[in-house]
Amino acid sequence: MLAPVMTVKDIELPGEALLRRFDHPGPRYTSYPTADRFVEAFDAAAFAARLASRGDQPSPPGLSVYVHVPFCDKVCYYCACNKVVTRHHERAADYLRALQIEADLVSGLLTGPRELEQLHFGGGTPTFLSNAELQQVMAMLTQRFPLADGVECSIEVDPRSTPADKVRTLAQLGFNRMSVGVQDFDLQVQKAVNRLQSYEMTKETIDTAREAGFKSVNLDLIYGLPKQTRDSFSRTLDRVLELSPERIALYHYAHLPERFKTQRRIVAAELPPSEEKTHIMLDAISRLSEAGYRYIGMDHFAKDTDDLARAQVLGRLHRNFQGYSTRPDCDLIGLGVSSISKVGPTYSQSVRELDEYYDRLHAGLLPTARGVQLDRDDLLRRAVIMALMCHFEVSKEGIESAHVIKFDEYFQRELQDLRSFEEAGLVEITHDWISVRPRGKLLVRGIAMVFDRYLRQDQRLRRYSKIV
Ligand code: SF4
Repeated sequence: MLAPVMTVKDIELPGEALLRRFDHPGPRYTSYPTADRFVEAFDAAAFAARLASRGDQPSPPGLSVYVHVPFCDKVCYYCACNKVVTRHHERAADYLRALQIEADLVSGLLTGPRELEQLHFGGGTPTFLSNAELQQVMAMLTQRFPLADGVECSIEVDPRSTPADKVRTLAQLGFNRMSVGVQDFDLQVQKAVNRLQSYEMTKETIDTAREAGFKSVNLDLIYGLPKQTRDSFSRTLDRVLELSPERIALYHYAHLPERFKTQRRIVAAELPPSEEKTHIMLDAISRLSEAGYRYIGMDHFAKDTDDLARAQVLGRLHRNFQGYSTRPDCDLIGLGVSSISKVGPTYSQSVRELDEYYDRLHAGLLPTARGVQLDRDDLLRRAVIMALMCHFEVSKEGIESAHVIKFDEYFQRELQDLRSFEEAGLVEITHDWISVRPRGKLLVRGIAMVFDRYLRQDQRLRRYSKIV
């Protein structure tokens, strides 16, 4: 038997029937259009032109930089990231040289303000880099993009490659937020996914981060992994709550071995059945809510005292490729293989293969592989989708005045499609607002998908994960 409908703080957990009816596979909307809609016609020349014209705007937005470090020491079998698994740490040196060439090319073209409001290192495993390499890459970046006062510097940390001295080095370099990969503390689950990482090791990383002055720690968890049960994940949550991170991300494991080769090493028979998985997720949300975490949306939780929760209450939350953010929409420069940039009304992504990335840069070319220039309809739909994802509501009047449309006329078909969500008590549609009700919050992605023009045009949904 599945748990009955249950209200925990600001979210009401939908029952099995609603999940089955409305939990369709779909994008996470860290961008709109989503990255699978980028096209090769938007190339390095288009990206260069956009960088060069950034300063022409009357008030260009702030700047943020993402650095992708693709290397990992060992492979986690559930992984769907673009990574290079290697024991050869010397490979980092070539990569840092290429990053510098890329930063020089971008910096040479970029106009407008270049002080960084946000800096994020992701991967792969950014802590694959040694202390000296981290110092080198930060010096290289800050020479070209100085850090603004109050900059948010965050890094994805793997405790297995982050001893106390590396945590302290990160703090000295200006990092003030970390996201710690955990996934599950259960030893049997860890063995089944090839990621052995003790609670003690994780605790040491987090304790040292707090002593060194990190303002915020996020912990990443995954449900739906092999050998997971309600009981085992409940024990993991006990330990997570002992660590008391400011933020928690609880992701669903989507088993797609035909797409991700690494996942073929997971024994499918060891995966929890769908009903057990649903229980694990619903239990986890209840536990986190009872422990004082607010459901921010799309897999993310934050303590009521955390900036993300406060920003949501104040209507100032934003969404970008790293998830949710408190900073207003910055232009984003992605550096490194497969990284994505967002500059003005464009997105662009670098090549995914390391050799091609090196070849392009050593030939003096930007490594842009594809991208997209947003048209008026994209911008309008992006505003609606991001409002739903960040605030669970859309002001029709706000969209009308910003985009010069009549909301009900422009979105006639979408409003019709929302009727089934409304009848099920997931959304409320009034003259002025579309509001996601507490029962619909867990299914917000499905509500946002109604406004996705590209999904209407084709059926690529099988590429995406569901909630459970
Ligand atoms: S989950 Fe993270 S550490 Fe593990 S293989 Fe993927 S990128 Fe590397």
